[in-house]
Amino acid sequence: MRFDFHCHSTASDGSLTPTELVTRAAGAGVELLALTDHDTLAGLDEAAQTAAERGIRLVPGIEVSVQWDTRELHIVGLGFDPAHRAIRGLVDYQQQARVNRAEKIGQKLDRAACMTGAYAKAAALSGQNAPGRPWFAQVLVSEGKARNDQHAFNRFLKPGQSAFVKTPWLTLEEATKAIRAAGGVAVLAHPTRYGLTRKKLRTILAEFAEAGGQGLETQTPGLNPNQRQLMDECLRDFNMLASGGSDFHTPRQTWLELGKVPPMPEHATPVWQAFL
Ligand code: AMP
Ligand code: MN
Ligand code: MN
Ligand code: MN
Repeated sequence: MRFDFHCHSTASDGSLTPTELVTRAAGAGVELLALTDHDTLAGLDEAAQTAAERGIRLVPGIEVSVQWDTRELHIVGLGFDPAHRAIRGLVDYQQQARVNRAEKIGQKLDRAACMTGAYAKAAALSGQNAPGRPWFAQVLVSEGKARNDQHAFNRFLKPGQSAFVKTPWLTLEEATKAIRAAGGVAVLAHPTRYGLTRKKLRTILAEFAEAGGQGLETQTPGLNPNQRQLMDECLRDFNMLASGGSDFHTPRQTWLELGKVPPMPEHATPVWQAFL
């Protein structure tokens, strides 16, 4: 089964429209796809229509920013009912948090990077959504304040830097419960990307499971053998379903491609068992 349960469209910070994204996935041989835009369901209807035309199966998805302790983590929700009020409420809350955050990031950048109207410029790029950090990175690059997106994050946008804004996201527990209430599966996204120790990851997974979390995104490109082993250990010890995805955002990042996801290991229970 060729699958990809993590990717982004222009509904959040991706560069392809939902139609372009689904068409590209179909072309890459993906049979089972979830569009997981950041804190929004806005791309799902268009993606579903194109998926039906192309004969590929689309699973409703979302990637939710959550807080756990002082950290920001990402939870992928899969296979929920997009009309359910629990998921609608989650999106409304997160979008309001994103609007407030974006205005504050803009104010901080105007000061820290000597810009004028950073918020308005980022908002002009992001369409109808509140601009996320990648849009601010793009403005910083186009105004010569950073060499590239990575540099913009490192210099201004990541935690500890001058334009980072701590955001009152839903907690890990709240987001997990909302996804479950809407009939979906909650998956901890890219567990190796938070810089967590093994012990801290296990603490988080215990709490996540307690809140109803069922999945771990173990099938992601570029894991080293130690990380692979840690993922297998966590799948086993916390009895989690294995999910996976490319986290595709744009064809410009040529090292991440739709459907380019390590195949499910034999010993794992694939997440799709929960919703197929
Ligand atoms: P936000 O949703 O506004 O918090 O932005 C998070 C998004 O920014 C991620 O999903 C990535 O697409 C992108 N991102 C996060 N960290 C970096 C980084 N260090 N360099 C480039 N892009 C990043
Ligand atoms: Mn993103
Ligand atoms: Mn993420
Ligand atoms: Mn993502």
